[in-house]
This record gives sequence, structure tokens and C-alpha cells, in this order.
Amino acid sequence: MQALRFDNAFVRELPADPQAGPRRRQVHGALYSHIEPTPVAAPRLIAHSREVAVLLGIDAAEIGSPDFVRVLGGNGLLEGMQPYAANYGGHQFGHWAGQLGDGRAITLGETINAAGERWELQLKGAGPTPYSRSADGRAVLRSSVREFLCSEAMHHLGVPTTRALSLVATGEEVVRDMFYDGHPKAEPGAIVCRVAPSFIRFGNFELPTARGDVTLLQRLIDFTIHRDFPELAAANSGVPNEELRASWFTEVCERTARMIAHWMRVGFVHGVMNTDNMSILGLTIDYGPYGWIDDFDLDWTPNTTDAEGRRYRFGQQPQIAHWNLSRLANALAPAFASVDPLHAGLQRYMDTYATAERGHIAAKLGVARSRDEDVELMQTLYGLLQTAEVDMTLFFRALIDVDVAAPVLKTLDGAFYDDQKRREAEPAFDAWLARYAARVRDDGLPRADRRARMQAANPRYVLRNYLAQQAIDRAEEGDDTGIHELLEVLRRPYEDQSGRNEFAQRRPDWARSRAGCSMLSCSS
Ligand code: AMP
Ligand code: MG
Repeated sequence: MQALRFDNAFVRELPADPQAGPRRRQVHGALYSHIEPTPVAAPRLIAHSREVAVLLGIDAAEIGSPDFVRVLGGNGLLEGMQPYAANYGGHQFGHWAGQLGDGRAITLGETINAAGERWELQLKGAGPTPYSRSADGRAVLRSSVREFLCSEAMHHLGVPTTRALSLVATGEEVVRDMFYDGHPKAEPGAIVCRVAPSFIRFGNFELPTARGDVTLLQRLIDFTIHRDFPELAAANSGVPNEELRASWFTEVCERTARMIAHWMRVGFVHGVMNTDNMSILGLTIDYGPYGWIDDFDLDWTPNTTDAEGRRYRFGQQPQIAHWNLSRLANALAPAFASVDPLHAGLQRYMDTYATAERGHIAAKLGVARSRDEDVELMQTLYGLLQTAEVDMTLFFRALIDVDVAAPVLKTLDGAFYDDQKRREAEPAFDAWLARYAARVRDDGLPRADRRARMQAANPRYVLRNYLAQQAIDRAEEGDDTGIHELLEVLRRPYEDQSGRNEFAQRRPDWARSRAGCSMLSCSS
């Protein structure tokens, strides 16, 4: 750890809040506040990601060393770290919420690895900051396990995401009213060290504009382009003009589109796509009440806070991302002489999403070349999967085994949750399979290639909500091995791993309505 080098561009180049300490306040004219993690009673390493350790150049021998645990539990800093909490706003559930900021995340510093890459290290749950409002700045074990496992799982699935280096138990209790129903409970606390090139969100740009501080907005835009999009700046000879800003906004729109298309491919529902939870790098960020699709349902939202309006339901994620980008466009408008480039960027989102979606459809279905009719074929299938209550992950994985010379629904039996619904839907599925088989035969991709293509697009292992909950239940009893097992399986989600069938099953009946398995709250 001592060997990590830091180059803290954010605090070096951008204006800071002149006040110190965690007193809650509105912070004007500044993009962050200096704040140190609050030490915890007894930090203990529960799990780490070896890939992230390698990425950062942390030696295997150092993992779990007193130094490692001390720093990642918030009980000490390394030389060169300059901790801060960022100041940002955001639209929550469609409404402007004013200043939010890092209420429990504290960035430790920006480290540069041997390859010259910049990685920001951020502790989530490290104690109060000026942005903690009425909350405690801490995180519970259950939500920390979920963030740690899911960010690594998403990475291995090929979905753009922030990463997680470590999961540390604090040895302290945190009180949470999980369902906001007057039943607060003490739970074990934990801290995740998140890692990303940048944690800047749409909301970082929204706040200065909402306050009419165009100078601050412009500084943040120019900084972000130069630090986080150096290839764009280089292509533009580094002059911070409108053309450069336009190409940057377009890039943000494209990346966001590709990220969302991946979510739809793997069956991930973020659950709380507020603009403060949208990364400017197009990374999946802020794993809270997210969930994974078991039985295919475009209307499903894992978030109990969203149960009524279902704003963040699975099938609406592409539209919500567009809406969020339009909030970002509004926020950036004062830095543009004309809104045309912003409109063009939003259009680029639509086009990129459509192209990415077509690519994923072709890969999921196992055809070499995408055709217009495939989109309709997939939509018909989605309708069937939804009505007949079919497991998304198991269905697409089993589709690989369908004999396109003589397709039968039996091959897919293991994906159905309900016998009655399966029987009722059988004629429709048979018709669909016949169409599908004809399409694949016509495409002409050799069988082995088709299988490989489908295997790479349709994961066998995803972080099913009940699997995460089982690992959490065990961890709360002091047994961390469930977390390690899951992390191991999820490192190779597209491979058939022998002896690991239990991780690729339908959601069991008991998990259908259990808290943590099908419903999650923002309380974390
Ligand atoms: P989220 O819904 O997790 O994105 O959080 C929205 C806002 O609430 C952000 O400003 C968070 O930093 C803040 N927040 C959430 N939980 C806590 C907590 N336990 N302590 C302080 N701030 C929090
Ligand atoms: Mg957030």
C-alpha cells in the first residue's frame, strides 16, 4: 500500500469549501469539502477483489495486512492521500432535490498505476461529511456486500461499472429502519472501497447550474474533459471550445447508451436511476436497491420506494437514461452558445442504444448478422417470457441447446416457474421456436460458432437476489465464506463451471416475497 502513488487532480485543480469538518451545510462556490474518514472500532477484512488489487499494483502479500485494513477501514491515510467529499445535486424520482453530495462516500485520492492509469479510491460508509444531512455517514453490512459483489460481477459480465477493492467490517453497529415502518434495528456496519477512474456524476454539473454559478460549471466541464476524456482533448488540440464540449457530451451519451443496453442484456435493474447516480463515464454506479431479473418482467422494480410509480422498472431503463441525459443537457446549456449540439447528443443516445440493442439481440439469439426482423422476434419472445413467467437467465442459456433442425420446448423446460402457465403458453412458444429455428438456419452460422456466440452473450451465473441474500445471512452470522464462493463463481459468468449448479437455478419459492430477495429499500 505504501507504494501507491497519488496525483490528486480533483482537489488540486478545483475550488474547495473553505470550511473544514462534518458540520452539515450548504456549500456554495465549491465542488468539494475536505473531510477525513471517521475511525471505526475494529476493522476486519471480509473480502477483496484480487483483480482490482492487481490493477492498482497492490501486492498479494499486502492484502489483509494491518496497513491495508487500517486504510480501507478508514482508520488511517497513506502518504499522498487528500480525502474529500464531493458536492453535487440531482433529480430524485423525477424531481430536483437540490444539494445532495457525498453523504457517506469519501474519496481518499487518485492513484496512478504502473500503466499510467488513474484510479480514484473511495470509501463508502466512512463516516459523516458536510453532505450527510440527517444521516450517519455509515453503511450496513448487507448493502455493502451487495455493492461489493455486484460491481465485480458486472465487470466480469462485461458491463461498464465502478469496481470494488475491499469489503471491511467496521466492528460497529448501525441502526436502520429497513422498510421505513417504525422498526429500527441495529445491524453490523461495513465499508466498501470503490474504485473508478472518476466518480463524477450528472449531478455534479446540475448543482452549479441550478445555483446560477456558470463559472464553476465551466471549470468542472473543462476539468472533466481534460482529466477523464484525454483522448477527446488530444483530438481537439486541447482548446476548451464549444466543439470539444459538444464531442464530449456526445461521448457521454454514447457511453450511457452502451451501458444501458448491457443492463438489458443481462437482466440488471438499477432501481434508483436518479441523476446523482449516473456516472459521467457511463459506468454503473451506486449499487443500492438494485435487482436481477429472475422471471422475465419488464415491469419489475426491486426498489420498494419505487413500488408505486415504478419509474425505475426494468423495461423503462432506456427511457430513464435518456431523460437523465436531457437533465444533464439542461445543466450544460449555459456553457453552450447553441443548444443544437446538445440535441444532437441526445439523438446520438437513441441511435447508439438502437445499434447496441440490435447487436445484443443478434448475439443472444445466436445469429451472425442482425436483421430488422430480429428486433420483432425478440419482442415477441419477451412477451411470451413475461406472460408465461419464465426465468430470463436460464431461458437464454438453454436456448443455446435448442436443436434448430427440430426444435422442442422441452429443451427449455427448466426455465419455467409455473407448470400451468407453461402448458397454456406451449402453442405460442412452439410457434416462436419454429420461427426462431428457421431464422437461425437461414443465418447459416455453423453450430459451434452459434453456440460460442450465444455463450458469450447469455451468462449462466448472475447475482440473483436470493443468492446475495443467502451470503448476507451467513455473513451476519459471522461466516464470510458465502461471499467468497459467490465472488469466485461470478468471476467467470459465461463458463459452465462444474460442481456449481446450485448457483444457476431458478429462484426458490421461499425467496419470492422475502425482503432482500425480491424487494429492497433504499435504507442501507
Ligand atoms: P443514494 O440514494 O444512495 O444515491 O443517496 C442519496 C443521497 O443520500 C446521497 O447524497 C448520499 O450520500 C446520501 N446518503 C445515503 N445514505 C446515507 C447515509 N447513511 N449517511 C449519509 N448520507 C447518506
Ligand atoms: Mg447515490
